[in-house]
This record gives sequence, structure tokens and C-alpha cells, in this order.
Amino acid sequence: MESALLKWFNFDTGNITDIKEITKDLTKGSVKDLEDDKIYCVICDNIISNIKYKTHINGSFDHTFTNPSKFNYHIGCFKKAPGCVYKGLFTDQFTWFEGCSWKYALCGSCSSHLGWLYKDKGKSIFFGLILDRIKFG
Ligand SMILES: [Zn+2]
Repeated sequence: MESALLKWFNFDTGNITDIKEITKDLTKGSVKDLEDDKIYCVICDNIISNIKYKTHINGSFDHTFTNPSKFNYHIGCFKKAPGCVYKGLFTDQFTWFEGCSWKYALCGSCSSHLGWLYKDKGKSIFFGLILDRIKFG
């Protein structure tokens, strides 16, 4: 685990805030593994993941959800996102995937909020990345 003081741009509020606790690399992968079909942060072009890590959760790659603040999110599910870092502790409050807890997933370069890391009771993980905050190859 690494700690750092970073600026976090929150798309929902438009505010930039300090975040004191960043955790990194819950997955084994590294950005060096992501040779072809890369997926990038739309803000800073950091490599986030790869098309080969697309996965289906509850029968679908993409999902649309609304959070308690009424923001709509269209997310895609990925097995790994080595370009992300994570904010906060796992929580199951307002989870969109039953039985899964989550924490924020941020771009590892510019700290933009790109989605969420989910962990189920069996401790397997996946990423829900906001599809208009990432771009494909
Ligand atoms: Zn970025």
C-alpha cells in the first residue's frame, strides 16, 4: 500500500480536493502488461486497462445506475484496471451489485474519479469504470 497526498477532481461536483489516503495495486497486473487495445483516461491519456479485461457481471458488460445524488452512470465491467488507484475503505452502502462492497477508483495519474472497485464476499474483485471517462484505443 502506498500513501500520497493528491488532488482529486470530482466530476460530480466540479471540485478539486485533497485526498490523503490512496491505495494502489490490488491487482497483480501492471500497465506494462497492457500492450494492445488499451483503454485510457479521457482527461490525461493515462493507460487504465485493456479490452481483454472486459468482463460480464450479472450477465452484462455494461450497466446503468443512479447514485443517491441522482447522478446517472453508465459503467463497463473489467477484471483488472492496473492504471487505477483507490480511495477510502470498502463499503457496501448503496452498492449497485448485491453482495459487493466498493471503493472509489481514480486515475493513477490525474486522480480523476473513473469508477469503482468492487469486492464480493468471496473476495474476488472487478472494476466498474464510467464509460464516458475512459476511451478505447
Ligand atoms: Zn487521468
